[in-house]
Amino acid sequence: MDSKLDTPQIHSKKRKLSEQDEAAPEPKVPKVHPFFTKSQEKKPEGPFQWLKPFGPAGSCLHGVNLQPKATTKVAALDLDGTVIKSEFNSKSSNGKPTWEWWRSSVPAKLKELHQSGYSLVLISNQGIKPAALKTWKEKIPLIGQALKDVPFHIFAAIAKDQYRKPMPGMWSELERLFEEDGVKIDKSTSFFVGDAAGRQYTKGKGDFSSTDRKWAQNIGITFYTPEEYFLKLPPHQNFILPGFRASTLPQLPRVTPTSSPIIPTRRNQEVILFIGYPCLGKSSFFRRHFEPAGYTHINQDILKTRDKCVKALQEALKAGQSCVIDNTNRNASTRKAYLDVCAANKITARAFNFTGSIELGWHNNLYRAFNLPPSVATKQAARDLLPYAAFTGFRDNYEEPELSEGFTEVKNVNWVFEGTEEEKRYWSMWLQIDGK
Ligand SMILES: [Mg+2]
Repeated sequence: MDSKLDTPQIHSKKRKLSEQDEAAPEPKVPKVHPFFTKSQEKKPEGPFQWLKPFGPAGSCLHGVNLQPKATTKVAALDLDGTVIKSEFNSKSSNGKPTWEWWRSSVPAKLKELHQSGYSLVLISNQGIKPAALKTWKEKIPLIGQALKDVPFHIFAAIAKDQYRKPMPGMWSELERLFEEDGVKIDKSTSFFVGDAAGRQYTKGKGDFSSTDRKWAQNIGITFYTPEEYFLKLPPHQNFILPGFRASTLPQLPRVTPTSSPIIPTRRNQEVILFIGYPCLGKSSFFRRHFEPAGYTHINQDILKTRDKCVKALQEALKAGQSCVIDNTNRNASTRKAYLDVCAANKITARAFNFTGSIELGWHNNLYRAFNLPPSVATKQAARDLLPYAAFTGFRDNYEEPELSEGFTEVKNVNWVFEGTEEEKRYWSMWLQIDGK
């Protein structure tokens, strides 16, 4: 990947212009062009540079202080509330960004880490508006100036995507970047320090979030809170990690009841209706079981409208084919459109009810859009994230399928992850962003 430095020449030209402008005697310049007024906001000089952002949308900002070398040991640190105080987010009265170390001991500790062979990497979520982001970007070079002999990288996730903690995208970029220098990061000696640790206190409020602790868990590196790391306090035991955890799902048989087969041994023409949230593996279940048996696939994502699906069903039945209606088919009235066609053609219908929860469907949606393992993502394009409304719409209108609607059987299809061990590891991570 191209990671060119911002061209220094342009910066020095801008600086010259602004110096001339400042030197000009004020009364002789009644109207200053906005360009020059703007250029008076001098870029801070120093060892820090913003580089080309990562990601297809440029949503992972990347900057370096000095010229950090890749090493196998990584000390990753959250920024706000960990390295610097989080309450210094806003501009001070003179319009310049302000900041303060979290504790006065922080810079010496960072220098010590660098001297003992650690790569320093700041890992920050910045879900802020563009104007605030501009100020924030001006603040980082000031931190760089205060760490004149400490090289570091900074990564900042500015969108709700694969880079946002607890998603591991910023770590994946770091691994890729280091691999370009022939360095494989040693997770056993690397660690992450962050204040979003899900801590609960007997008195007063707990941490605002637990994304930092989840991020370290996702990657598989040791986690410390700033108090534990910088102040050497004992580990805070009372913490909670709320949100969906794929690994806690019960192991159920794929299809119940197991007393009857998925595909009948003596086959008559039939229609199958799938029912369930998006992203529960309905289409792959079709490909695995029904496609090899010659069933016709009818899907509204492809055909676009229910009317076209109904028409496709009518034509397929006339042609003597069995069919699977692979839609969410959330309630009885939606299903009736297809069951009426079955009744008119005297064809039996069975329901396959995909039992996964809204949390599971949404988790799979996040996984497919943002967290495929890098080895898979290079071969297969990630799918677009479906909107949350596609899931709440199903939840709010769902009616469990009943035999009385006209089905000869209702089967439950339980979620079972199918994929390689590596895929399962990425699927099992904490993926919810900002509690969703
Ligand atoms: Mg923080």
